[in-house]
Amino acid sequence: MIKVKKRKILLLPGDGIGPEVIAEVKKIINWFNDKKSLDFEIDQELVGGCSYDKHGTPITDEVFYKALESEVIMLGAVGGPKWDGLEFSKKPERALLKLRKELKLFANLRPAICFEQLVGASTLKPEVVSGLDIMIVRELTGGIYFGEPRGIKPIENGERKGINTHTYTTSEITRVARVAFDLARKRSNRVTSCEKSNVMEAGQLWKEEVQELHDKEYKDVELSHMLADNCAMQLLRYPKQFDVIVTDNLFGDMLSDQASMLTGSLGLLPSASLGAKNKDGEMRAMYEPIHGSAPDIAGKGLANPIASILSFAMALRYSLDLDKEADILEKAVQDVLNDGLRTKDIMSDGMKETSTSAMGDAIISKLQ
Ligand code: NAD
Repeated sequence: MIKVKKRKILLLPGDGIGPEVIAEVKKIINWFNDKKSLDFEIDQELVGGCSYDKHGTPITDEVFYKALESEVIMLGAVGGPKWDGLEFSKKPERALLKLRKELKLFANLRPAICFEQLVGASTLKPEVVSGLDIMIVRELTGGIYFGEPRGIKPIENGERKGINTHTYTTSEITRVARVAFDLARKRSNRVTSCEKSNVMEAGQLWKEEVQELHDKEYKDVELSHMLADNCAMQLLRYPKQFDVIVTDNLFGDMLSDQASMLTGSLGLLPSASLGAKNKDGEMRAMYEPIHGSAPDIAGKGLANPIASILSFAMALRYSLDLDKEADILEKAVQDVLNDGLRTKDIMSDGMKETSTSAMGDAIISKLQ
């Protein structure tokens, strides 16, 4: 059993704009080490297409074992057209799926926050999104993306049948629901659990188990249940009704993408994937921006590093127990936006356009 090393941070920049945005995170980690006397130990490795180019595999065993012993993994993004034609097992995305699965990162946290300075960037009316602050907790290692049997098989009359299986067990449901209830207690104390209990047995079990856990251990948290299709509609109609949403892998995939677009820019939104705590309280976790490798702007200094920097703020809060430092970092980002500094993706009239590294430097100057 490989032990997690406290405060060890593994940087996996990946492909496309990944190295550009993770370079800014590295500057910020170094700032915390120098100025706040924190003792983060940083290591950096290849993952994704760049690892395939050098080693013929999207993640080597050596890097995988380093990931296993790191308390925090900061991922940039992987993939790009260069590697689109590779066979399935060599594709850059396989590295991510391997990390999520083998590190048992079962809870994916995706905040959808609408920055006041960027209300105009949303496709929804300002009054609908202004002040928006939702946390979506998606189950990440179960459900229909992993259930067996699966596959495509021939059937009679020359037809074929595609099969995927949607399964959940009590423990898979309760461990992710627990994460949602614990988060709610630190926020507005409300959880909405989403499933399709009207048409799916696994959804019915989901609803019953979440309710039972609530009644046993989290009576102080306000719990409501909502059908996932209604949730999709409510997210557009009146998103501010939600605090924490907890849902399965499939519905979470869609609802979290939908929620992220309420806020206007991919370049601003962080995410965290958390594993279970062991008996010593140690937890493996991977933090990454929700955006991809953006090959269209890679190498041009145009990438917005804020999503990655806010992902590091999540790491400070959820893995490293440094809430105060997380607050400082989030405030520095707000201050820079208040000053009118913008990367190209969020640029608007009257604002000052800046590059990836100048945005990172500006955030550091606010930290000072
Ligand atoms: P994408 O998120 O990379 O880009 C979508 C659009 O948003 C592009 O126009 C891009 O320029 C812009 N954008 C994204 N992040 C930005 C940032 N930080 N700053 C400024 N603009 C930004 O999605 P895509 O184009 O669908 O995918 C590109 C590649 O990334 C594909 O190979 C895909 O498989 C991969 N991908 C990887 C991950 C991951 O590593 N977790 C996630 C999604 C997509």
